[in-house]
Amino acid sequence: MTAKHIAILGSTGSIGKSALRVIDSLGPDYAIAALTAHSSVELLAEQARRYKPRVVAITNADYAAPLREAICDLDIEVLAGPDSLIEIAQLDDVDIVLTAVVGAAGLGAVLAAARKGKRLAIANKEPLVIAGELLTRAVRENGGTILPVDSEHSAIFQAMQAGSREEVSKIILTSSGGPFRKATVAEIEKVTLEEALSHPVWDMGPKITVDSATMMNKALEVIEAHWLFDMPVDKIEVLIHPESIVHSLVEFVDGSVIAQLGEPDMCLPIQYALTYPARVAGIGKHLRLEEVGKLTFEKPRLETFRALSLGFEVARTGGTAAVVFNAANEAAVQEFLAGRIKFVSIVELIEHCLNKHKVKRDVSLEELLEADAWARREVKISVKRKAKNVK
Ligand code: NDP
Ligand code: MG
Repeated sequence: MTAKHIAILGSTGSIGKSALRVIDSLGPDYAIAALTAHSSVELLAEQARRYKPRVVAITNADYAAPLREAICDLDIEVLAGPDSLIEIAQLDDVDIVLTAVVGAAGLGAVLAAARKGKRLAIANKEPLVIAGELLTRAVRENGGTILPVDSEHSAIFQAMQAGSREEVSKIILTSSGGPFRKATVAEIEKVTLEEALSHPVWDMGPKITVDSATMMNKALEVIEAHWLFDMPVDKIEVLIHPESIVHSLVEFVDGSVIAQLGEPDMCLPIQYALTYPARVAGIGKHLRLEEVGKLTFEKPRLETFRALSLGFEVARTGGTAAVVFNAANEAAVQEFLAGRIKFVSIVELIEHCLNKHKVKRDVSLEELLEADAWARREVKISVKRKAKNVK
């Protein structure tokens, strides 16, 4: 076969680096066409030197000059600024766009790739959450494909192959429960940044690690699943599974439950999104259940992890609710990572924005972006106001 050309948006992040390891192992059938980073110049330059893509992009334009300088001896085009992701997603010589940037920043590129009918291997869940309707429609209308990289959604995608869409009675997303699975409300009140950043199972970027601690990640995944699998929210459940071996499950109308199991390692879902429908030998450790011993499951604590119950409400509400939910979270997590707010304030700020927002339906991309900007502003204003009152 002729080699498949892959663009990795966010190649310097946790998913991006794992994707490069996977592609290394896949051999000459897969080639790197483009790589991007936001500000990690050194690592991007190193990756460019090793993989020789035709083009690289740095979305924070302040870093364009040092990047150009670092790879001036190579015949690689350098793009800069946020829109460079859109340019790369549309390149004719790119077959697969693997989106591994963090947050809503990936939205334009994901939509552009969908409109070009590309194969989208999508790790970056936020665009699906905020513009799921527009995005899935663009994929359908332009003959493209979305393949989930998120481990739970990859599991569901795999399990779905056991029957037809109409035969599915529900999908069950598993969750490790995060670092505070057993914590009391009083303990969660005192959580530090360091504690929130130490996930018991997965080694991921800082934003999704905090999202896992609040269980906002699972809330976003409920909405992601709703759009990816065209599944009513009432047929989506969450189950806590601390060992993270069962990556998710699908129940069919006859009561049969099909699950996908594997070591907790993102290489497998990344690889499957690239090679689908083929399965090839992978670099990950194979699962040995006798070593795992015990698999346990619990109900999620919806009263304690309010983000998760809000996620279900938002998914049912539809319209601009999800964009506000996501943007408020992104802004609040930034405030938390910067040490300006407490851990519990993240979800309080999200709830504040949702309560204040008047949901609009049948919205355009512009209206979604307006709601996104409003929520981010609202979080900033609330944090500043609170800081003033405290002083
Ligand atoms: P990281 O923070 O590790 O990496 C993010 C990547 O995006 C980096 O390459 C970063 O560049 C780049 N980036 C950061 N900000 C911007 C921006 N404003 N515009 C464009 N690019 C930007 O994140 P993860 O790899 O952990 O996560 C990526 C996505 O995948 C997220 O949406 C996450 O929810 C999802 N995901 C991640 C999983 C994981 O195991 N990590 C599992 C499932 C889903 P730079 O290095 O220069 O900052
Ligand atoms: Mg996940």
